[in-house]
Amino acid sequence: MILDIRKIKNPVLRKKCLEVKEITPEIRKLVQDMKETMEKNKGVGLAANQVGALKRVITIDLRFANQGFLALINPKVIKKSREKEIEEEGCLSFPDIFLKIKRAKEVIVRTKNVEGKEMDLKAEGLLARVLQHEIDHLDGILFFDRLPLWQRIKFKFKNKLY
Ligand code: ZN
Repeated sequence: MILDIRKIKNPVLRKKCLEVKEITPEIRKLVQDMKETMEKNKGVGLAANQVGALKRVITIDLRFANQGFLALINPKVIKKSREKEIEEEGCLSFPDIFLKIKRAKEVIVRTKNVEGKEMDLKAEGLLARVLQHEIDHLDGILFFDRLPLWQRIKFKFKNKLY
């Protein structure tokens, strides 16, 4: 089922998502729906609050880059490299907005998969970037929050996001 993506100033985007205690059929259904919603909107990543569910669930689709489809439950960045990289990012909640964002080049994410198996995922480059962007969403943090202060002020003013 394709879900409605919450956009721009929708308050759910500023909510902190809650830990998933048990991987129920509802969680599996949410993952499937998020996958279909990303496919429909040609996104590379989606966080559950973007579709109105306050659960710590993200989906990532990097099949175009041969890195597959990932569904992560309760993902948490446990390590990030000091080395950073600046690349352009978009967000399905902010159509047509692309911003150069500085993020750690490499991260280690501790997560569960949909089978409930805990694992550490080591990532770099695009996957590391998408993971950081989506995990930020789960804490109500949006990509423009990561801009340097002055750029952020200008961006928010221009887009009436204050
Ligand atoms: Zn986003």
